[in-house]
Amino acid sequence: MRDLSALPKGHLHVHLDAAARPETIIELARDQGVAPPRLSGFTNFDEFIKSFFALLEVTSSPAALRRVIDESVADAKRDGVRYLELGINPAFRAEVFGSVEAALETILDQGMLSAEKHGVSLGFNLTIDRMAGYDQSIATARLAAHYADRGITTIGLANEERGFPVTDFRDAFRIARDAGLGIAPHAGELVGPESVRSSLEVGSTRIQHGVRAVEDPRLIEKLADEAVCLDVCPTSNVVLGVYESIENHPLPQLLEAGVRCSINADDPTLFANSVTSEYELGRSTLGLSDHLLAACAWASIDCSAAPEDVKAAAKRDIDGWLTNDL
Ligand SMILES: [Zn+2]
Repeated sequence: MRDLSALPKGHLHVHLDAAARPETIIELARDQGVAPPRLSGFTNFDEFIKSFFALLEVTSSPAALRRVIDESVADAKRDGVRYLELGINPAFRAEVFGSVEAALETILDQGMLSAEKHGVSLGFNLTIDRMAGYDQSIATARLAAHYADRGITTIGLANEERGFPVTDFRDAFRIARDAGLGIAPHAGELVGPESVRSSLEVGSTRIQHGVRAVEDPRLIEKLADEAVCLDVCPTSNVVLGVYESIENHPLPQLLEAGVRCSINADDPTLFANSVTSEYELGRSTLGLSDHLLAACAWASIDCSAAPEDVKAAAKRDIDGWLTNDL
């Protein structure tokens, strides 16, 4: 059987603030004399988001943040990731660092050091907080544009999807697009196909989740035609109650319809998963062939912001992985 950790891939949907190793969080909490946040057993998005914000407290010091970045890049290397795009929101850390810019500078600096150290190409998805209001979304987009040549590759949109439609952030996405950045909002997770449709209207180049597009056959066709990549996270969707079980996840159906999908971990600290374990679920529980898994890996490279030489080498090695005799 082919080793899925050796399959070259991009990891495009993973949030830095929930990418720390669970044992690191427990150790940091112990050093700080505080109880560690709840790391498992969520049954809905509200419980999950509470733990997500609790993780920020434990990783708030510059040293802890640098450690989490370095371990995330090391873990990516272990998982065969050639290009890692970490979702970040430095506004969460502005108070500790003195400003959003100071927090961002630290993240970018450590990112550069760790990418070099571990030999993984790294970019950042600067993520707008849906609940932080219009002005903050514009400020985030301007910040992303300003740092476009320093490692920011994409603008994202996260947090509560219900009541905070993608179209409210049209102006922010325009600023990002003019700066040459990719646009990859969370959509089609807690809200149905209309949220995915709106994401296409605002010029999304990828969509994080997007899986509920499956409820609208015409929309699936459109996604396939426009070759927009869905950054799919099966375990996340089950833990947060979007689907009852992995067996019910629509990834096979989306692939069958010709939609490009990458496979991702989303929040490894809270889901006890990794990008490789998600590929393994694709094989063991969703019944995806190695050809389909390789197609997902190919999409995760092709639709990423990785440098062209990294893309070319990864594609060559994906082909090699597939043609290796077993
Ligand atoms: Zn996410």
